[in-house]
Amino acid sequence: MKRSTKRFFATVAAFWTAILCVSQPASSYEIRPFLALHESMSFAAAECLRVAGGAEPLDCSAYVAKLASLSDAKNPRIEGIGQAARWPDDPTRQIKARTLIKFGFNAKLNCKSVLRRSPEIGQVGLLCSSHHGRLQFFHAMASSSSETFENTRAKLIDWAAFTYGVAAGFIDPATDYCGYWKDNSSSISTSMRPPNFAFCGGSTAKHPWTISTLFAMRCSNPVSSETCTEVIGPAGTDLARSAAAGALLHLVQDSYSQSHAARGTTSEPAYRPVIDCNLPSRFYDYSTQNSKEHSKADKVPALASSCKSGATVDDAITASAKLLWHIERRSDPAIVISYLRSRVLGGS
Ligand SMILES: [Zn+2]
Repeated sequence: MKRSTKRFFATVAAFWTAILCVSQPASSYEIRPFLALHESMSFAAAECLRVAGGAEPLDCSAYVAKLASLSDAKNPRIEGIGQAARWPDDPTRQIKARTLIKFGFNAKLNCKSVLRRSPEIGQVGLLCSSHHGRLQFFHAMASSSSETFENTRAKLIDWAAFTYGVAAGFIDPATDYCGYWKDNSSSISTSMRPPNFAFCGGSTAKHPWTISTLFAMRCSNPVSSETCTEVIGPAGTDLARSAAAGALLHLVQDSYSQSHAARGTTSEPAYRPVIDCNLPSRFYDYSTQNSKEHSKADKVPALASSCKSGATVDDAITASAKLLWHIERRSDPAIVISYLRSRVLGGS
């Protein structure tokens, strides 16, 4: 990457004090260098879309059985959208496999400690906010123990609308970040742009964010996000759109993890690695969840019997493929949200 294509964030320690917390694999379907589950689900969705030859991919459920072989972390075929789908787990692109264990240990302790002192994204950073704080809707989870099921679902829908808008080109990545969220009265506006957010425009702001900034940062030091760069120009726009598409798929895929959400009736034991084709009935709160139980379901999933032909709710791969199809076609955002409500997340 050429120097001219970066914007340098060297003096933002007040914001980027968060230590890496993405390496805690229990907080999501695993990604490289563990199992590459988000990567392989997204790759499978792209394959299903390609095979459909331009038509809407209506049933990609057969790909679920192939995830075990595709999710080998060394599989080189899962770049592209597969890599983009990692973004919510590593939003500042810090994961380096060599020292991952050390980071994970530091991160878990530090994220929780930092968040106890200061729960806002404006002070604790994107990584910790995503995994333990106000942005847990990135992963189809409640952001606090007091959040209701309907509140969480509204956040998931609003996050989906935003990421779809960026991915499909309805929201320009060059848009002023703070202005966008100030004018937007959705359920996630305050979480995305809290009152003390340090990177809004104005005389005291060193680096006012655009929407692209959110998706196009890279922090060089894997154990600290004090020094980061932003990819800018056309490469930054492409990276932002790609990461937003990945974030949308990641959200949908996490909503099928029984570590994150329960679907349908609760008669079956929870925390099983099974994709259930019923609408969500509960979103869990990670802070009050047993982390050992949580990690049991974030494994290579099987397909539940509810995902039979004619099911009214799509499986995770089919839903991912349909969203990629909508992004390619630049479908009306209202159509996409209607689809997510009726066949993925529920609600009205
Ligand atoms: Zn996740």
